[in-house]
Amino acid sequence: MRVKTITVHSAGGVVLRGPADAPDVLMIATHNGTRWALPKGQVEPNESLPEAARREVEEETGIKVATLAHLETIEYWYYASRNVRHHKFVDYFLMKPIGGTLRPQLSEVDDVRWWPLAKALELATYDNDRRVIEKAGKRWPRYADEL
Ligand code: ATP
Repeated sequence: MRVKTITVHSAGGVVLRGPADAPDVLMIATHNGTRWALPKGQVEPNESLPEAARREVEEETGIKVATLAHLETIEYWYYASRNVRHHKFVDYFLMKPIGGTLRPQLSEVDDVRWWPLAKALELATYDNDRRVIEKAGKRWPRYADEL
């Protein structure tokens, strides 16, 4: 059986709030609330990566955000069906909340929470998300002090 590979691109955010040394992280739960991950989604045609990241975070969590910096492009592979493999890239941005109310996008998300950074690192299902959250935490003091 021949396997077809498709490259897909998503964008998302590590949204932080709170003090420089102990921020909270905005996370979503999927798979009946069993997997915690960062909010993200597919980049639409004619949309920039930061635009897509902001739109997806707002749609999935109800929180309005401003983008502070690009953090990292993560990459992974998965089978979308038996003979279609996705090579996925996700660009994550450091963000801060600027309004809105916490409300999961019910079609795609089971729960949305602010978790303390240490708890977010414990709960994160994927190692690459964990790495990006750590990176965001290290860069946060520079922004937290300006708020
Ligand atoms: P998007 O949220 O970008 O629209 P999606 O919900 O269609 O995407 P993914 O969240 O990428 O799809 O999930 C597709 C597969 O990849 C699932 O099997 C999931 O477990 C796995 N996956 C999701 N996030 C990661 C990650 N950060 N690292 C590795 N595998 C992941």
